[in-house]
Amino acid sequence: MKKFIPLLYCILLAMPHLWAQSTDEKCGYKLQHDNALARNPNFDKEVAAYKASLAKNAGIALKTSVAHTVYVPVVFHVVLNSTQITDLGGASGIIEHANSQIQVLNEDYNRGNADSTKIPSAFKPLYASVNIKFALAGIDPNGHPTNGIELVMTSQSSYDITSAHPALNAKLTDSGGASSWDYTRYVNVWVIAPSPSGTIGLTCPPSYCIGSSPTFYLSEMGVIISYHTFGRKLHPGDFFLTDQALGRTLTHEMGHYFELLHPWDSSETIQDTPPQCSYIYGCPSFPHTDACSPVYPGIQYMNFLEYTNDSCMQMFSHDQDSVMYATVSPGGESYNLTLHPELLSVPGNAVTTSSAYPNFSIYPNPAKDIIEIAFDSAPTDLQNILVLNMMGQVVKQIHTFPQSKSVISIDLSGISKGIYFVQCQFATSKDTRKIVLQ
Ligand SMILES: [Zn+2]
Repeated sequence: MKKFIPLLYCILLAMPHLWAQSTDEKCGYKLQHDNALARNPNFDKEVAAYKASLAKNAGIALKTSVAHTVYVPVVFHVVLNSTQITDLGGASGIIEHANSQIQVLNEDYNRGNADSTKIPSAFKPLYASVNIKFALAGIDPNGHPTNGIELVMTSQSSYDITSAHPALNAKLTDSGGASSWDYTRYVNVWVIAPSPSGTIGLTCPPSYCIGSSPTFYLSEMGVIISYHTFGRKLHPGDFFLTDQALGRTLTHEMGHYFELLHPWDSSETIQDTPPQCSYIYGCPSFPHTDACSPVYPGIQYMNFLEYTNDSCMQMFSHDQDSVMYATVSPGGESYNLTLHPELLSVPGNAVTTSSAYPNFSIYPNPAKDIIEIAFDSAPTDLQNILVLNMMGQVVKQIHTFPQSKSVISIDLSGISKGIYFVQCQFATSKDTRKIVLQ
């Protein structure tokens, strides 16, 4: 019986009228894959050979021994027309949505999502922390400061994502879009209006682009999401899809970027999501069974790689965690992304720019133990200096008021090596700089 059902499902999928329906899947992963296979019959073999060539097991072993958090820089290429930009609240609204999007990713990939209480007890032991943290890029590929958002106003009202190279114009500056930033150092995310609009996310993972297969261009590597799903819905007037208003379209798509497949396609690599015949939408109640998982606890519909509503998905499983973490571990295809902390913006992405004393510098940087903070003149309203780690936790605090010196020395010996943020808190503002201790 069990073997018969998937076979029946394959036959159903092959029927033309149902096949056409698949172009409206919420996620375009299968559509893109099937298009690639039609163009290149060896596509699956080439992708598999590439994946096999990576030292994946090393990553998994690393994960089980030490939960070491890695950080990856993200750039949002927002390619929209003027009406769509207005729908997101203009340039300032886009920054807000970008920040909320990064927060959602960091919660969902680090067991920080408050709605994890909704995970049924039958699946709760599988609730995994992937230990991947995301930050907006703070430095662009040319070495210039950036807020991690590239906003391009286009005249195109939407981009076809059913073609051989989905939404390619949005990914090329010469075609009125925004070309990818160095894929070895940044995760590229394009925020666009896809066509068909029912497909709200589509990822071209590294294995599709950097293997031996020429089926996709390197410049396509990255994630596309619909602007209707960009971050959380923050204001009543935000133009968002009702069921995708919590920013989890990118949580899902980023999973594909780290080489996850959908639960109904991943039985070979993922053991701890139950068998599942096909995708489901909406918000089922627990337990939800189907013909492939007919008994309690049924399918894991609250998995981030499902098609359920944002408010009904809350977890990655341990096996999914292992697959993703392997890609950012030594030998993994995305390991290099984790080696450029200098590209990251401030944790929490609150890049502060206003300050009574904008002109201060910190030297040496990188530093060993002592840093000097030099102001143009004595910062008389400086209240505190905080040193924050990548998690935004205070590792050192110095009360500096009243302050009469223009150069302030701080001893950071005893603090472990790494990236930190020095925050000067003035009476009415604050300003933050990044430092490296080595
Ligand atoms: Zn998907």
